[in-house]
Amino acid sequence: MTASSSSVRVAVRIRPLTENEKQHCQHNAIAFIPDNQQQVILGGDRPFTFDYVYPPQSSQQEVYNSCVIPLLNKFIEGYNSTILAYGQTGSGKTYSMGIGLDSVMNASVNDGIVPRFIDSLFHSLESKRSDNYSFQVYVSFLELHNEDLVDLLCPNVKSRREGLNLTIREDSHGNICWAGVREEAVSNPTELMGLLQKGSIARTTASTDMNSTSSRSHAIFSIILKQFQTESDEAFVENATLFNQTNRFSPNNSASRHTKRLVSKFHFVDLAGSERLKRTNAVGDRAKEGISINTGLLALGNVISALGDESRRVSHIPYRDSKLTRLLQDSLGGNSQTLMLACASPAVSNMTETLNTLKYANRAR
Ligand code: ADP
Ligand code: MG
Repeated sequence: MTASSSSVRVAVRIRPLTENEKQHCQHNAIAFIPDNQQQVILGGDRPFTFDYVYPPQSSQQEVYNSCVIPLLNKFIEGYNSTILAYGQTGSGKTYSMGIGLDSVMNASVNDGIVPRFIDSLFHSLESKRSDNYSFQVYVSFLELHNEDLVDLLCPNVKSRREGLNLTIREDSHGNICWAGVREEAVSNPTELMGLLQKGSIARTTASTDMNSTSSRSHAIFSIILKQFQTESDEAFVENATLFNQTNRFSPNNSASRHTKRLVSKFHFVDLAGSERLKRTNAVGDRAKEGISINTGLLALGNVISALGDESRRVSHIPYRDSKLTRLLQDSLGGNSQTLMLACASPAVSNMTETLNTLKYANRAR
């Protein structure tokens, strides 16, 4: 199946060797073919092909421009979207997504996907604003830890620790609603970045032998966009036809009869480390977490692979096998846009995990 017929795209990003790896004389296990932006070769003899391949020298801007801007445009047209950062701890998921604390506290050229997205989103929306067009942006920020949900925007630390009593509802049109999750309204990029910061600070981390600051949980940062149009311009009418079919584009009865409302969601998911447990010498609670994290990643892999498989497209997609896939159900597959950003280390010492990551990403194609 060709990439263009699938709603799931797969990008692989190989980070540079770290200073520490260089000091330990680590060699590169990954090779690239000059001028070929779709292939990586692992260990000299295992080629893999993806929709996008980013070698270590790729900048944050390049990644953003080539694989995220197309999703931003579709999101504004009304499509739900999800970006999933996958890979072992230390492979560059949080760096690429741009939701780590360093990144959200100091804006820089190293800004990852989310801060760039926030800027361009408001820029695009403000340029559309008129007497007939308005919009409202909302944000939520969740952490999923051992199938337990934490609302990172909840101001009360105690109730945040106790976890979230969330109910996932599905309406007759297949829209997923997270009842009980805070959705904060924001009116500019600064407010949105402020909530991203607040949530990043609240995000719990637990240490493992491999990386003391690694997060063992999935983080889901979501932007919900509501657009209102009072007169029909051509683009909106076109979308109205499309969205009337799924009923996501519906007349807003409480306002003027001619006001149409278009709702879309964008989920940025920084997945938990994909490494195998043995490697991190995890015991006790850590080991339990590991098992549960693998369940979520396994379910996600199965869903994404089922979505990409044309012969299975209309049949069963196993969204209900994990909370992660259930939460994201209406933003994976169907009319929505999904980007899996698989992150990997180039070091020979990480070759086994890198191979696992490339295989996982390969299943998604
Ligand atoms: P993960 O979230 O997958 O555990 P991080 O995003 O925290 O990994 O990355 C691990 C380290 O590598 C961080 O210090 C990060 O700044 C650095 N890093 C990751 N990717 C890149 C990159 N493409 N360029 C430069 N540094 C990177
Ligand atoms: Mg991380």
